Amino acid sequence: MFDLHGRVAIITGGNGGIGLGMAHGLAAAGARVVIAGRNRDKSLAAAAQLGRSSGNDALAIEVDVTSEKSVEQLVERARDECGRLDILVNNAGINIRKPPQDLSHAEWTQVLDTNLTSAFLCSRAAYPAMKAAGAGKIINIGSMMSIFGAGFAPAYAASKGGIVQFTKACASAWGRDNIQVNAVLPGWIDTDLTRSARKEVEGLHENVLRRTPAARWGEPGDFNGIAVFLSSKASDFITGAAITVDGGYSIQG
Ligand code: NDP
Repeated sequence: MFDLHGRVAIITGGNGGIGLGMAHGLAAAGARVVIAGRNRDKSLAAAAQLGRSSGNDALAIEVDVTSEKSVEQLVERARDECGRLDILVNNAGINIRKPPQDLSHAEWTQVLDTNLTSAFLCSRAAYPAMKAAGAGKIINIGSMMSIFGAGFAPAYAASKGGIVQFTKACASAWGRDNIQVNAVLPGWIDTDLTRSARKEVEGLHENVLRRTPAARWGEPGDFNGIAVFLSSKASDFITGAAITVDGGYSIQG
């Protein structure tokens, strides 16, 4: 039910953090993983690490997910080199932590382009291959800020709220093509992104530990399972959902 042998998965931002955690899950389940990031060396190192740990050959392709042309080239190359495309994980993301009154238009656009418009561009580019194959799985990465707001993250919260609604729109549009589209909303996970947040947001570390019932930060490895589940036959009747992976953070009032 969870076997992914013969499947090909693109993971944007798969060269580190949550994306690499998901990549490990998919590769271990048998998928051929395409690591798609900006930083070539980081992506090559991640692909080599995946190959060693799973025994499955992984591929690294350079992409800027904010560029329509670059995204189209990514999908074309993945299809050429791997012969098919079954799974897309829209995971690449950034944050610029400033209150709304201090955020420039360019910063707003940069965050929305990287976190939200990228999911549109990648999903649209992947759709023809999935439709032709008669099946597909798309996983979009949201956040606790798909649910809550935060004064220091106006563009990020807008992008992550948008991811959930975009997920529902694609799930509705592509259900008859047997393409399931779901969102994963991570809690506070220990990655490069939140290492900088711990420096910039006073009291964050203590707040996360106090409010998370699991009483710890999440790890990239916490995303192995959800990636496999949402990419496999086991989730064929689940679409348009937004699933929290947060150690219980979002159930606290
Ligand atoms: P990281 O900073 O570790 O990873 C972000 C990834 O995004 C990097 O691999 C980076 O690749 C890639 N990326 C950024 N911009 C671009 C771009 N323009 N084109 C291609 N790739 C790009 O952070 P996380 O692992 O924490 O974040 C992954 C996702 O999870 C994000 O969407 C984030 O918003 C979300 N998330 C994270 C949470 C956390 O607590 N960590 C909580 C909730 C959501 P490269 O280095 O090659 O540019």
